[in-house]
Amino acid sequence: DSILVWFRRDLRDDDNAALAEALRRGRRVHCVFIFDRDILDALPSPADRRVDFIHRSVGELDAALLARGGGLIVAHGRAGDEIPRLGRQLGVDAVFANRDYEPSAKARDAQVAAALAAYGIGFESFKDQVIFDGAEVLTQAGRPYTVFTPYRNAWLKRLGGDDLAPADAAAGGAGKGALQAPPAALAGLPTLAALGFVPTGLDRLAIVPGMSGARALLDDFRGRLGRYHEQRDYPALRGVSYLSVHLRFGTVSIRQLVALAQAQVRQGGDAAAGAQVWLSELVWRDFYFMILDQFPHVVGHAFKREFERVEWESSARADADFSAWCAGRTGYPLVDAAMRQLAYSGYMHNRLRMVAASFLCKDLGIDWRRGEEFFAAQLNDFDLAANNGGWQWSASTGCDAQPWFRIFNPVTQSERFDPQGRFIRRYVPELQNVPDRHIHAPWCMSVAEQSACGVLIGRDYPPPLVDHAAARTRTLARYGVVKDAD
Ligand code: FAD
Repeated sequence: DSILVWFRRDLRDDDNAALAEALRRGRRVHCVFIFDRDILDALPSPADRRVDFIHRSVGELDAALLARGGGLIVAHGRAGDEIPRLGRQLGVDAVFANRDYEPSAKARDAQVAAALAAYGIGFESFKDQVIFDGAEVLTQAGRPYTVFTPYRNAWLKRLGGDDLAPADAAAGGAGKGALQAPPAALAGLPTLAALGFVPTGLDRLAIVPGMSGARALLDDFRGRLGRYHEQRDYPALRGVSYLSVHLRFGTVSIRQLVALAQAQVRQGGDAAAGAQVWLSELVWRDFYFMILDQFPHVVGHAFKREFERVEWESSARADADFSAWCAGRTGYPLVDAAMRQLAYSGYMHNRLRMVAASFLCKDLGIDWRRGEEFFAAQLNDFDLAANNGGWQWSASTGCDAQPWFRIFNPVTQSERFDPQGRFIRRYVPELQNVPDRHIHAPWCMSVAEQSACGVLIGRDYPPPLVDHAAARTRTLARYGVVKDAD
């Protein structure tokens, strides 16, 4: 009855299913986090905000466990080697972890479980990252949903108080187990430098890692939740929660967030509408985890296989267009502001993710997988399930996606969601003095107007990479192969 809890993307000591269950069932509970070389060695740069965020969150988790009489063993190696080795060294009976739905993580866990089994050590995984996992919300025919709205209705219908009870309470209080301090030889958190990484200025970006960072954001958002439905689409406003990076690394519990939204919905009144819409976003999160779990072919392939026939641009011109998109130099101000926000901070507002993704696939005709990969490398909150879901939605290749003939107009989107160009001006300073009526399509200004506001298109800011109307016609033809096959 000695258990090793393996922390991965659940960097908190409260309301943590695997930890709570270990304390309920085991007598001695050890905790470990592995900086996994298989993941870290594949990262292209030593300046990675995610690694910095994790490193600081792990430090905070270690301190929290220490205050409870335990502490964290932190290793740097391959999880497939380290976990079985530690399991033997500590003499544990089982390793507990919270379930991960990504195909590569499932393969890793299966390999670790097999290696542990060879030593007679068990491996158990728990639902923690989602409210309902893979097979819990099914259609009447017993199949996974592929359309969001009926999924959400079934999800909400199924939701009971038990699903939201904090794991500590659900597991029956503190239990009989005691957290164990790491053996001296295994104690101590390696520095970021020892892991081969450098600090990334999270403080400058006001990104606060760890449980304390999540708490501060949630306290700030609580008062704004009631207005979420009115403000969430305007990137210049502070209308959303910014909790995604914390959900990604588990420094906040999804149960706590859903419980908060649900309580506010039940209270009724003015604030209920905002909470209702936010709750729906949290259900989208579960939906995409379920899709990834049940339909793993979405990694690298269109969910709807007929869309594999779409032929994307692959010329040298497309490569140049892709580089311009990555660099925020498409000539469409809202797209450029979005891409520069991503480069500067590792965050991009949801409305802008849709606009930027649509622009890549439907204005530039570039394969959504190239955009997905770029976002994966850049986003602090990168999550395979939501990123893949968002890209396939935008490219119209996914389940319950935007219909392929519906094409965002980047200028209209800009006029609607950043009417005075406040967001654009924040990230595209060269357009600072462009009047509001031209900020969405600055190339429409005469040369005299351009010089009056100090920006010459073609010299200080790029002309548009494509003409939207012409691109739209090309896109309809490109996707026509799917229609023709129907
Ligand atoms: P809020 O608006 O406060 O929403 C709260 C939470 O709900 C989010 O933190 C997130 O966990 C969840 N959520 C909201 N919208 C979605 C959605 N459409 N799909 C799934 N979950 C959602 N989200 C990621 O977490 N990681 C990604 O890698 C990611 N890539 C995306 C790529 C594209 C092309 C698109 C269109 C969307 C992507 N999203 C991704 C979804 C969404 O844009 C972000 O979750 C959101 O912008 C995060 O900001 P927030 O925490 O302030 O969100």
